[in-house]
Amino acid sequence: MAAVLLARGGGAAARALTFGCLRQLHTVYQTAELPETHQMLCQTCRDFAEKELVPIAAQLDKEHRFPAEQVKKMGALGLLAMDVPEEYKGAGLDYLAYSIAVEEISRGCASTGVVMSVNNSLYLGPILKFGSEEQKHQWIAPFASGDKIGCFALSEPGNGSDAGAASTVARLDGNEWVLNGTKAWITNAWDASAVVVFATTDKSQKHKGISAFLVPMPTPGLSLGKKEDKLGIRASSTANLIFEDCRIPKANLLGQQGMGFKIAMQTLDSGRIGIASQALGIAQGALDCAVDYAEKRLAFGSPISKLQAIQFKLADMALALEGARLLTWRAAMLKDNGKPYTKEAAMAKLAASEAATTISHQAIQILGGMGYVTEMPAERHYRDARITEIYEGTSEIQRLVIAGQLLKEYRG
Ligand SMILES: Cc1cc2nc3c(=O)[nH]c(=O)nc-3n(C[C@H](O)[C@H](O)[C@H](O)COP(=O)(O)OP(=O)(O)OC[C@H]3O[C@@H](n4cnc5c(N)ncnc54)[C@H](O)[C@@H]3O)c2cc1C
Repeated sequence: MAAVLLARGGGAAARALTFGCLRQLHTVYQTAELPETHQMLCQTCRDFAEKELVPIAAQLDKEHRFPAEQVKKMGALGLLAMDVPEEYKGAGLDYLAYSIAVEEISRGCASTGVVMSVNNSLYLGPILKFGSEEQKHQWIAPFASGDKIGCFALSEPGNGSDAGAASTVARLDGNEWVLNGTKAWITNAWDASAVVVFATTDKSQKHKGISAFLVPMPTPGLSLGKKEDKLGIRASSTANLIFEDCRIPKANLLGQQGMGFKIAMQTLDSGRIGIASQALGIAQGALDCAVDYAEKRLAFGSPISKLQAIQFKLADMALALEGARLLTWRAAMLKDNGKPYTKEAAMAKLAASEAATTISHQAIQILGGMGYVTEMPAERHYRDARITEIYEGTSEIQRLVIAGQLLKEYRG
């Protein structure tokens, strides 16, 4: 699959899809320092987003419509299982490649970006790391091609940040686990064919009594709640998963019993690189829109881009974006090199999500009235940006993670 990605990246026809000179400039400054393979991947994803996502993103958002056809094409390109080895039908690339791809896809459509991120990081990630050989073959390959996508169910109506307080339970009955409880806010819920779900197998052990399970969807005893009517990323589905005496084979335990909290936390470390990358894509889309508009919009006889007040905004936006991108790439490279990256992933997610919120806010200011209406993408970027400060750990939780790691380092 990596070959598919890279071959498309080099094609003249694909290059012709790139648009105006402003974005060509962006190509140069963003990727010049990357290895050639990553530059080609970036171009392939950018071309795909420009051709397949940008023209329909506003409509998908308006209709709350899942981009099924585009997700299938992304599967064929290898974008849904990017760091999964080729023996399990993945693209066999690294996390830096994944970060770059999520940014480019999210720049075109942030909803599609989160669908991709959840499948790669939250669904396939823990199976690849903690699954048995048999589980990897069964639960990864069909989810790499775009035919099926997965989801990840940790949060509950009564606990989000405090994930260790999970009240969903799993009880062993003969050769089956029986699951009961409700999971909340589950991305991809309505479109998924499997879920990695966390449930308590021993309440007395608190978070050490949580285990992870693989559940096919649909399956008897598992029903979906209503689709949430969201502020942003409206083309991705979000819903409750309700387990009522839901029976799954004993073999569907992921990792060891009681390992669930560790699996969830390690999965979220990687997931945060994906969300940071989604935030970068949203922020880049907002900056592109602001620069383009500032160059064209005349006020007092000249383009507003000549006004120092606008230039200062653009400078601050670019600075926040570049800083967050470097943090995100660093976290990805630490992971690729087998180094600890919990603190760096939290820093990347915090910096990128706050940058996306600020940049999309300022983009609307630069567009004036045109920033406030749906004819321009700025208002969608503003709505889409907000979730990146909430899911996979709120900004407050990222600060706790960073401070916890930092203090540990100082105390030695
Ligand atoms: C669109 C969307 C998609 C989502 N997708 C998924 C998914 O696919 N899978 C999944 O499992 N979950 C998902 N979530 C859930 C998401 O991860 C949680 O909403 C998030 O972790 C926050 O939990 P909460 O909403 O319960 O807020 P709470 O935990 O109730 O927090 C409320 C406020 O209190 C603050 N707070 C809480 N604890 C502390 C603390 N110790 N110190 C300082 N401040 C604190 C929080 O930062 C926040 O500001 C999704 C949520 C949304 C909205």
